[in-house]
Amino acid sequence: MALKADYGEDARFIAGGQSLVPALNLRLLEPRALIDIAGLRDLSGVLLADGRLVSGALTRHAQLANDPLIAAHAPLLLRALPYVAHAAIRNRGTFGGSIALADPAAEWPACCLALDAEMIFTGPQITGERRIPAADFFRGLYATALGPDDLLLRVELPIKKPGVRSDALELARRHGDFAIVGIVGTCLDGKLSGLRLSFFGVADRPLRFPTVEKLLMAGEMAPAIAELKQKLDPPSDPCHSSATKKYLAGVLLQRAIHQLRSHA
Ligand code: FAD
Repeated sequence: MALKADYGEDARFIAGGQSLVPALNLRLLEPRALIDIAGLRDLSGVLLADGRLVSGALTRHAQLANDPLIAAHAPLLLRALPYVAHAAIRNRGTFGGSIALADPAAEWPACCLALDAEMIFTGPQITGERRIPAADFFRGLYATALGPDDLLLRVELPIKKPGVRSDALELARRHGDFAIVGIVGTCLDGKLSGLRLSFFGVADRPLRFPTVEKLLMAGEMAPAIAELKQKLDPPSDPCHSSATKKYLAGVLLQRAIHQLRSHA
C-alpha cells in the first residue's frame, strides 16, 4: 500500500494480468508502475469463517473450480465458471481482479449480486477495512466502490441454504467470449421460492429486477418477460441492437426458469 501511496494513480495493481496486460498492449492504459500483488498468499484461497464462505481476491478462477468448499457452499459459482474466458485465462485470472475490473459482461460480478456477496477492501484513505454489499459495489461501466488506490482483499458469501438450486446461462459469439447477454440465479425449490436473478451484458453493471422475480415466483412467466423488456435498456454494440439484446434476455430468462424449476 505504501508503494501505491507513493505513485498514486500512476501505478496499477496487477493480479492475474489477464485484463490489464491486454489493455497495456493496446496502449489503453500507460501507468508508470505496476505493483505485482500476485504473491500475496494471504489473499488467495477459500475458507469458511463465521458461517460465511470467504474467497481471497487473488484466488484464481481455476482454483475456484477445484475447491470443494465452493461446490458445497456456492454451487452457482461452479455453474458460471465454464463461461469465464478459456482454460488458460482461468489459470491466471483472479476472482478479485474480475470484481475490481467490473466488466459489465463478466460472470463473477453478476454471481456476487445474485448471492448477496460482500466485498472487503482497504486503502490509504481507509482505517482498517471497508465492507460493501454487491448491490452497492458495482456503480457503472468498469466503476466500483473501490477508490483508485484501494485494494480488494476478499469476498464473503452467505453459505448455501439446504436444497438451493443454481443456474447460469449465457449467449456469446464464441465459447469463452464475454457474454452478449447472461443470467445467473438461485431459488430454494421448484416453485422458485426465494428466487434471485442477476442479468449481465445488458447494462453498465449487473442488475436484478425484483418485480420480475416477484412475477416469476407467482408463476406469471409472460408478464415477467414483458416486465423485463420494459425495464431493460441495453446499450447496442457493433453486432447487436438493443432490441436484439432485450429479446435474447427474455429467451435466456425462460430457459433459466425452466432449468431452475426442473433442476436440470
Ligand atoms: P488484472 O488483469 O491483473 O487486473 C485487472 C484490473 O483490476 C486492473 O485495473 C487491476 O489494477 C485491478 N485489480 C486486480 N486485482 C485487484 C485487487 N485485488 N484490488 C484492486 N484492484 C485490482 N472475464 C470474464 O469474467 N468473462 C469472460 O468471458 C472473459 N473472457 C475473457 C477472454 C479473453 C480473451 C481475455 C484476455 C480475458 C477474459 N476475461 C473474461 C477476463 C479475465 O477473467 C480476467 O482474469 C479478469 O477480468 C481480471 O482478472 P485478473 O486477475 O487477470 O486482473
